[in-house]
Parts: sequence; C-alpha cells; structure tokens
Amino acid sequence: MPYVLAEYVWIDADGGCRSKTKVMHGKSTVTLKDLPHWNYDGSSTGQAPGEDSEVIIHPAAVFSDPFRGGNHVLVMTDTYTPAGEPIPTNTRAPAKEIFDMAPEEEPWFGIEQEYTLFKDGTPLGWPKATARSFGGPTVQLGFPGAQGPYYCAAGADVAFGRDICETHMMMCLEAGINISGINAEVMPGQWEYQVGPCTGIESGDHHWMSRYILNRVCEDKGVVCSYEPKPIPGDWNGAGCHTNFSTKNMREKKDGYEKYILPCIENLGKKHAEHIAAYGEGNDQRLTGRHETASIDTFKWGVADRGASVRVGNDTKKNGKGYLEDRRPASNMDPYIAADLHAPRPPCARRA
Ligand code: ADP
Ligand code: MN
Ligand code: MN
Ligand code: MN
Ligand code: MN
Repeated sequence: MPYVLAEYVWIDADGGCRSKTKVMHGKSTVTLKDLPHWNYDGSSTGQAPGEDSEVIIHPAAVFSDPFRGGNHVLVMTDTYTPAGEPIPTNTRAPAKEIFDMAPEEEPWFGIEQEYTLFKDGTPLGWPKATARSFGGPTVQLGFPGAQGPYYCAAGADVAFGRDICETHMMMCLEAGINISGINAEVMPGQWEYQVGPCTGIESGDHHWMSRYILNRVCEDKGVVCSYEPKPIPGDWNGAGCHTNFSTKNMREKKDGYEKYILPCIENLGKKHAEHIAAYGEGNDQRLTGRHETASIDTFKWGVADRGASVRVGNDTKKNGKGYLEDRRPASNMDPYIAADLHAPRPPCARRA
C-alpha cells in the first residue's frame, strides 16, 4: 500500500512553529484538497483551556518535504476553534481577508530574515571566557573581535555556521519556497536569507515554512536558532526582518515613485506607532538609532539610507518606479501581520 507523510505545521502562542505527522494511507501523492482538517492539544501550546482543548488546523499551503523526500509534504495550516472561528493568534485569516479585497493591486513582499545561531549558550564562533572562582571554573560569554570583518565574509576566522545557512537554502528550494538569497551578517554567528517576492498571503505562508525548515536544519546540527531582535546587548547589530513592498502600480506605472510610493511612505509615517506595536517583541532593544536602524520613536525615510525607518533604493528613484523597504520589523515579527499592515486597502476596508 502506498502512503504519503504529511507534516502539519502551525504557529503557537509565542510565535514558534509546532508540527506533527499524519500518515495518509493509500495515497501516492497529495494536493491541498486531499488534506483534511486536523486538531492538536491547544492546552499544551497556551492556545486553549484544558476542558475544551482542541484547536482545529486547516491546511492552507502545501510544500514538498525536503527532509523525507519522495512525495511527502509539509503543510502550512492556520488555527480555528471547533465552531470554525479563527483563534486569537491566527493572524493569517484576517490578513487573507484584507488581501482578498483588492487582488488587482498584486502586492509583492520580499522579506529579509536575519537570525543568530547559538550553541551551548553562545553565538557560533564566539569564544568562551573561563573565569576562576573558589567553586571551580565558571564559563562566561567571551567576546570576538569588533564588528567589521564578518559581513558577507569567507574564512574560518570570520564566518561561523555557513553549513546551516547553505543547507537551509537548499532545503527551501527543494520544498518549493521562493527563497531569493542568503548572506553572512554583521554580527558573527548571524546570517540572513530572503524570501520573495511573493504575492499577498503567499508571503507569510512561504516565510513561516522557511522558519520551520530552519529550525529543523538547526536541530539536525545541535544548534539553536534565535529570532531575538537583540540577541547580544551592546555594540553588536540586532536582527531584523526588513520588509520590501510594492504594488503593481508602484512597480509598473511610469510615475510609480511619485504617485504611489511616496504617498505610501507618508501613510506609513502617520501610522508609525501602530506598525511599531506589531513589528515584534523586544524591538525597542534593536531600534536604537545605531547599528543601521532608526530610533523607535521617530519615523524617518530616505533614499539609500540604512539609518532610516523606510528606505527607497537608488534604482527605484532613478527609474521612477519600484519598491520600498520597511526596515523596522524585528527578526521575530509575524510576516502575516507585516504583510497585512502594508496591504493596500480599498476605502471600504476596515480593520477591527
Ligand atoms: P538589501 O539590499 O536590503 O539587503 P535584499 O537583497 O537582502 O535587500 O532583499 C531584497 C528583497 O526584496 C528580496 O527578497 C527581493 O526578492 C525583494 N524584492 C525585489 N523586488 C521587489 C519588489 N518590486 N517588491 C517587493 N519585494 C521585492
Ligand atoms: Mn497523546
Ligand atoms: Mn538583505
Ligand atoms: Mn541584513
Ligand atoms: Mn534590507
């Protein structure tokens, strides 16, 4: 008898990914419509009370499973009550509603995911300092040489964890995720990948699954991936999730920059506080106005300015059309929310 293994992935109360396996007996391939609703114990993920613990998961997007290979699949799901209402942590359902109101805008998102790799409590490549005390040796965090040589570096003294970054990219490609690049970051042990451009809700689906795959690749190597916005305090870059955004008009109209991108940036400035509140826990530690960020308290935009809240590339200005980069979202942000906040809204669209 043939079978397909379907790994159902969902988002927990803390913005982590959880998953479990369903054996699809008698199937040799599956598509979205073959995959039934399922449920999990929401009392174990902080998403439901013990006496009514079932959270129902609805398959939303199917990817190839690069770990099991064959026709096995990874399934991105979203979360509902038994009565069919999205649970409070389901950010996909409201985002999809917004996107479905104006599909003709064709909103594109390209998300740059930065992350930090840890082993035994220190970032990869960081030395351990051993301090002697009367109780015996105590291990503390030691510090590597100051930032400068690590960004996009090659070499065993400057690049730490490339195998993970590289394996993750290959796994995403195998899965069918629209990953568009990788690079080593400014802080040693920190890396980045980009997913996109993806249209509308697909951006969050691809992005969440890319995080799940990263966690699995790290698990295989005994390494922990941190999505903390400021994993190491002090003179070390934080980790962000720059969100590149455009609509069809911004990309294609010959006056896209003047007529669509600039007004969009003006709107983003007016809604600065609302966006900041939704751009990740602990982002205040990262958005200090230093280390390639603008201060959390001010909205500032600029062409080619990496100290701005929103940056426009030189090409976009020169060509008179293109896209903008929102540099504020933190590495632990929810890509469904970030996309939702940028989604073009028809005048009738109102959010609760
Ligand atoms: P940076 O120069 O800020 O490091 P990256 O190259 O890391 O930029 O990431 C840019 C992201 O923007 C990529 O994911 C890319 O696919 C995406 N992108 C490119 N064009 C557009 C567009 N028109 N709209 C939205 N995203 C785009
Ligand atoms: Mn059980
Ligand atoms: Mn980048
Ligand atoms: Mn970066
Ligand atoms: Mn960027």
